[in-house]
Amino acid sequence: MTPPSGPSNFIRDIIIDDLKTGKFAGRVQTRFPPEPNGYLHIGHAKSIWLNFGLAAEFGGKTNLRFDDTNPEKEETEYVDSIMDTVRWLGYDWEDRLFYASDYFPQLYEWALQLIRAGKAYVCDLSAEEVRKTRGTLTEPGIESPYRNRSVEENLDLFERMKAGEFPDGARTLRARIDMASANLNLRDPVMYRILHAEHHRTGSQWCIYPMYDFAHGQSDSVERVTHSICTLEFEDHRPLYDWYIEALGIYHPQQIEFDRLNLTYTLLSKRKLLSLVQNGHVRGWDDPRMPTLSGIRRRGYTPEALRSFCGAIGVSKTNGIIELGLLEHHVREDLNRRAARVMAVLRPLRVVIDNYPEGQVEEMEAVNNPEDASAGTRRVPFSRVLYIEQEDFREDPPKQYFRLSPGREVRLRYAYFITCTHAVKNDRGEVVEIHCTYDPETRGGNAPDGRKVKSTIHWVSAAHAVDAEVRLYENLFSKENPNETKEGEDFTANLNPHSLEVLAGAKAEPSLAGAAAGSRYQFERLGYFCVDPDSAAGRLVFNRTVALRDTWAKIQSRDQKGAGH
Ligand code: ATP
Ligand code: MG
Repeated sequence: MTPPSGPSNFIRDIIIDDLKTGKFAGRVQTRFPPEPNGYLHIGHAKSIWLNFGLAAEFGGKTNLRFDDTNPEKEETEYVDSIMDTVRWLGYDWEDRLFYASDYFPQLYEWALQLIRAGKAYVCDLSAEEVRKTRGTLTEPGIESPYRNRSVEENLDLFERMKAGEFPDGARTLRARIDMASANLNLRDPVMYRILHAEHHRTGSQWCIYPMYDFAHGQSDSVERVTHSICTLEFEDHRPLYDWYIEALGIYHPQQIEFDRLNLTYTLLSKRKLLSLVQNGHVRGWDDPRMPTLSGIRRRGYTPEALRSFCGAIGVSKTNGIIELGLLEHHVREDLNRRAARVMAVLRPLRVVIDNYPEGQVEEMEAVNNPEDASAGTRRVPFSRVLYIEQEDFREDPPKQYFRLSPGREVRLRYAYFITCTHAVKNDRGEVVEIHCTYDPETRGGNAPDGRKVKSTIHWVSAAHAVDAEVRLYENLFSKENPNETKEGEDFTANLNPHSLEVLAGAKAEPSLAGAAAGSRYQFERLGYFCVDPDSAAGRLVFNRTVALRDTWAKIQSRDQKGAGH
């Protein structure tokens, strides 16, 4: 066994204990059991990380199992994207890919076994009547009039259900447990329903389908899962899973519940994410604003960052909510280590350096990654006409603004000190170009006379720049809890109208020409960016993954608050 190395948590402690006592003969077998009814989201990453991470740490195995018991909402598209995503996160189920639908014949046999034991019966009540007779937390339910059917009659009816003799919803198979149980899940739950629907794998072979609760625990049992890890809302279902397993006398996995991941400004419900896609609020499941793993990936988040985030948030027995900022922190930390630094200008302002020789080009040496010496250096062309960021120039600089303004000297990153002489405006009075002089003595960024400048700004050479579209993102929702709405509104009322801003005229240094989709960079002073698959030859598209912390924005908002705005 590899020595334990993962972050400690209560599930890990249970596994360590079970290994000590030999509860499962030293085995650790887990599974990740998604329902293929949507794309995976960041919440699933926590479950994947736990199931695959814990098993790997203790020399165990993890299965990927699609819980495909609901033919109406499931699609092969989802199956494919889920597999792709789990692999991207860095995990491998090897040859252990399973489907709950593989177990339909076995589950059917087990249903017959329970009928023969007098523990299941065919009920003719409608779904509505079943609901009505279920009782409440304070009142017991009412026993179904069909509860005492003979075994023979039940076997006959169940076989005819399977043979397709009855329409959808006409009958169900129910477990015969206890209509007065304090746990509502034990009040004769439905095991099978009639549904004449095509299944993505079994086609029209079946017209009765097991309920999730009748399939889930037994699927774990078939796969000899040791630690069946699931989220807290299934705690109340555990007695039912245990009841089925014991009534059938089959191998008994141990279910352990943990807290779901919730994030501020984020919705993690496949149903709601699907409605965002279907109603065109986002561009698709992989829209970089989506909390889906395909969206997060397209935005430029790394699997390493997600795994370290999962390690940091911990695992507990009570539901809480995690700051979105913590996720972004892990993304920044990881990208800071690995992303190449480059210069790009999002909102270009033309700068002419009047005393720089026309036609001259110098190659400036630039460091690719100060965090990683092995990343080396590159050469960035410098010439007489450059672009800088519009916001790096103010004609009328406020206090504490140290960037370029008339008469002010600043450093151009990896190049020279420049001093602004004057600005050129258009008819509307907007600055369209500024003029500067440079000090040839300051090549590389230092003045021989030791004079200092208070700021360093980035730039690109106009003649050499490559054009780019840059997509800036804000939180998809403007409320910390997107579900908190006024009466008559739904969560879409909390969508942030500014969640996407497209900058069509950005300019990037020439080393970015032809960058492959998925490549990640730090644009100096601006943030981390990732090449979007919408890029084509000669047309780069970048997503802003996450901004760098912007001290100026902080000063500005503090000043505004101070001024009573
Ligand atoms: P959703 O409510 O988003 O549809 P789900 O629980 O129905 O999610 P499944 O496909 O059934 O989605 O989930 C597969 C596994 O991922 C389950 O074990 C589930 O408990 C876990 N999971 C789902 N959402 C989260 C979350 N937010 N945090 C942690 N684990 C989660
Ligand atoms: Mg589900």
